[in-house]
Amino acid sequence: MTEAGIQATIGAMKAATQAEGTNAGGAPLPGAHAAVFLDIDGTLIHFADRPDAVHIDAALCELLERVRESTGGALALISGRTIGDIDELFSPARFAAAGQHGSERRSADGTMHFHAPLAPRLAAQASALRGFAQAHEGLLLEEKGTSLALHYRNAPHAAELAECEVRRVVEGLGDGFELQAGKFVLEVKPSGKDKGTAIAEFMAEPPFAGRSPVFVGDDLTDELGFELVNRIGGETVKVGPGPTRARWRLGNADDVRRWLADFAARATAPDAGRRSP
Ligand SMILES: [Mg+2]
Repeated sequence: MTEAGIQATIGAMKAATQAEGTNAGGAPLPGAHAAVFLDIDGTLIHFADRPDAVHIDAALCELLERVRESTGGALALISGRTIGDIDELFSPARFAAAGQHGSERRSADGTMHFHAPLAPRLAAQASALRGFAQAHEGLLLEEKGTSLALHYRNAPHAAELAECEVRRVVEGLGDGFELQAGKFVLEVKPSGKDKGTAIAEFMAEPPFAGRSPVFVGDDLTDELGFELVNRIGGETVKVGPGPTRARWRLGNADDVRRWLADFAARATAPDAGRRSP
């Protein structure tokens, strides 16, 4: 997107947050026929120093279960984490989910879908990044099976060096892989799948099909999801500051929880049928 385009988007967002019908957080509540797609880190929970240091509280699980009920089951988590990791975080609750930016996906009926024919090639290259991470204090390599994530949240001074190294690995892997940059993380992942394709795949299946998609995310990787959802006429919500393609904005994970709670409360209110669009 050009700088002028970004400025136009920001202007539209400022106007949008003042529009009639928005709640205090700046995004309209999803309608009764919404399909809700949610990123996890930075969207439902605050970031921690390490990806394995976060904790999902029972109240958040309960809230997501209410949102799922309010949407006829059309709730999915869309994350860079693996689905195994997501299940562990939210245990014992289990949600429809896209993991590793869409490289793996679990439909609402529990069916698993994998896009990992290249995983053995990636594993062969992991050792180079593992050695690099070990040689630089504060860097953390997460090996996720079909993707690799080099985190530099605790070593921001090494960002440039880390990017050079990850680019070198991606180039060495050749066709079929790409670099995906996020907040303090550089990922090597199979190309062709992203958060946008994951949402599109969910929207072709029950109980999502025929509903109006709403996607909430906070990071660069979520922009591909925003682009897809905007294109098919849904609502998009960016969490936190920064340029975005999303139409609406919420301040942080606490605001997202309040927004979801308002939605669930409205959807289950006795007169919900009359008030929902
Ligand atoms: Mg995120």
